[in-house]
Amino acid sequence: MDRLEKKMLALIDAHAQEIIDFAQDIYSHPEEGFYEERTAAKVAGFLHAIGLDVHAYMARTGVRGDWMEQDGPNVTIVGEMDAIGCEAHPMAALGSKVAHACGHHAQLAAMIGSAIGLMDEEVRASMRGSVSFFAVPAEEYVDAAKRRVLREKENIGFPGSGKSELIRIGAFDQTDIALTTHVHMVPVAEDLYLGNPACNGFAAELLTIHGKAAHAAIAPWKGVNAVSIATSALNMVGLLRETFREEDHVRVHSLIRKGGEVLNSVPDLVVMEEKVRAKTLDGIRDAKAKLDRAFDGAAYAFGGTNERENLQGYMPVRYRAADPILTEAAQQLGVSYREVSPEDFNNASTDMGDLTHLLPVLNFTFGGFAGTLHGADFRITDPQTAYLLPAKMLALTTYKLLKDRATEAQKILRDFQPVFDKNSYIDYIQKTLL
Ligand SMILES: [Zn+2]
Repeated sequence: MDRLEKKMLALIDAHAQEIIDFAQDIYSHPEEGFYEERTAAKVAGFLHAIGLDVHAYMARTGVRGDWMEQDGPNVTIVGEMDAIGCEAHPMAALGSKVAHACGHHAQLAAMIGSAIGLMDEEVRASMRGSVSFFAVPAEEYVDAAKRRVLREKENIGFPGSGKSELIRIGAFDQTDIALTTHVHMVPVAEDLYLGNPACNGFAAELLTIHGKAAHAAIAPWKGVNAVSIATSALNMVGLLRETFREEDHVRVHSLIRKGGEVLNSVPDLVVMEEKVRAKTLDGIRDAKAKLDRAFDGAAYAFGGTNERENLQGYMPVRYRAADPILTEAAQQLGVSYREVSPEDFNNASTDMGDLTHLLPVLNFTFGGFAGTLHGADFRITDPQTAYLLPAKMLALTTYKLLKDRATEAQKILRDFQPVFDKNSYIDYIQKTLL
């Protein structure tokens, strides 16, 4: 470890209590996606106080602090701000019913902790390039009703997720490499899990099934039963399961928002929300087309109709092996770690996937918590591992990317093959919404 690496770690340790208090404060004030106003103000206050150039109100609550004194590659450290709907969690906020049961508060603590190390004057002078600290809104799924409000009243063009909207408005235009972290999302016993396992993406839709009301006992033959259409469609989706390839990791989730009003009348309206996950964009398209045929076919068979509103999903996360600098940092910190392998797979989805289609995203996850992710029993049990260790990892990794005239960052950029640039990304999303 060189002298400046040691200095950064000492700085983070010297501010340990401040970082832990920061995490505890965010944990105690959970806010839902796109509405993280208090969280954003707290992050902005911190970034401003350490002398960064702060940009706020991006996609409503996004806050980015930039250190941009030099030319060269930009490394953006990303921290997610939103809490997850989990009413049973003891910290669930009254009213919004959300809690930090996905550990995003730990990401923010790690991000500000890394800033304490990286913004040291000597450390800055040793790096070529720029560093941004970006607190981003809305990683968790945003449902159809909320999306409508965001689009119509809040001017959010891609209300499906925070990162996607930030890409759309150009808030990632300056970023060359993103550095991300999260609590472990796949079972890992070690303190750190290095690299990005492949991860499902998804598409979603809101379905409004129209039937025809009639007296359920006197003249059911005059009606068209919307619940029957929904039931048949779901049966078909079940039978279509054998056409899903194992390697596509398809999952279909269905939710009935509205399913008839009174038992004495043939139900004429069903509202459903559907989500289709798969490992690749092609896999998502294939499974979604089958789902659509099942609903359209069922509506046709019963003589009803089916209205579909396509909702933007998340792209799959592209696999990225542990970069050697992540491994080097973990070794220097003397903690237990495991590197991602190509066989590892995360069936869940994150909008980080979208970013992996445009930029190199260096990622690691960390432990220090107990209970189930998104569950009522999720809690941080070890602040060292959950707050300070990731802060140190982010600081060391960023420094290693940008030191020595940013040799490592330049190499990563040369090797990276994007799937989309910003414009083709926006086009792709817009086409999936037709
Ligand atoms: Zn999460």
